Amino acid sequence: MTDRIEPFDLFAIRYAHHAKRSASENFIGGDPHEEASPLDYFVWVARRSDRLFVVDTGFGHEAARHRQRTLLRLPAEGLKTLGIAAAQVEDIIITHLHYDHAGTLDAFPKARFHVQDREMAFATGRCMCHPVIRHSFAVEDITALVRHLYAGRVVFHDGDEELAPGLSVHHIGGHTAGIQSVRVWTRRGWVVLASDASHLYANMEEGRPFPIVYNVADMLEGHKRLHGLAASPRHIIPGHDPLVMQRYRPPGRELEGVAVRLDAEPSA
Ligand SMILES: [Zn+2]
Ligand SMILES: [Zn+2]
Repeated sequence: MTDRIEPFDLFAIRYAHHAKRSASENFIGGDPHEEASPLDYFVWVARRSDRLFVVDTGFGHEAARHRQRTLLRLPAEGLKTLGIAAAQVEDIIITHLHYDHAGTLDAFPKARFHVQDREMAFATGRCMCHPVIRHSFAVEDITALVRHLYAGRVVFHDGDEELAPGLSVHHIGGHTAGIQSVRVWTRRGWVVLASDASHLYANMEEGRPFPIVYNVADMLEGHKRLHGLAASPRHIIPGHDPLVMQRYRPPGRELEGVAVRLDAEPSA
């Protein structure tokens, strides 16, 4: 069935970095083997002749300053390196509404934003009464999304849905109530953009959950789910792992350190 589907080209664009991060901030119970555990921040692109999907919208200058993250380039500038004009993008999948995935929405004036029902309910409901849970959200992003909702530009999904032949969203939960991962048909088979369903390779490979979590059991089940959706463990792309930039090659020499191709086999 999939042999009739045109594969997507699939890219990760690195737009920010956080060097001063400790293992205890990335693993429940910490990590005895290492002290530093830096994070990269990405947006992703799935593109073929008939469709273009951007996955997540990152954050901008204000959030970088506020959270003390190193912004390398605005997500829209990152897209430009692949020849994509933010103003022309029509479909954006927001994996979840944390500040590092759902900022800069206004840079995409034509876009429809695809989110899970449960994520919008989560980010605008009683769970946000708890400072520890709402800490990873930015109220400016949520209100921007509500404005786009009232402008007719939000598309809701409940669970698993195909957005185009060869591309589907899958509710995973765990990290947030409504986080979704994205499954994409590529020339090397089904690749899954986990986003924060697994921040690092080690979270899912070693069954050690990330500590910012709504439901630990759902997060662990989510790791299993990712494996069920992907062609192999090498086809799962974690949301924040700096190893992604090492294991995959850039689309061209000039994009070294900026973007990598996820539709080509990784090196390790
Ligand atoms: Zn997150
Ligand atoms: Zn994140």
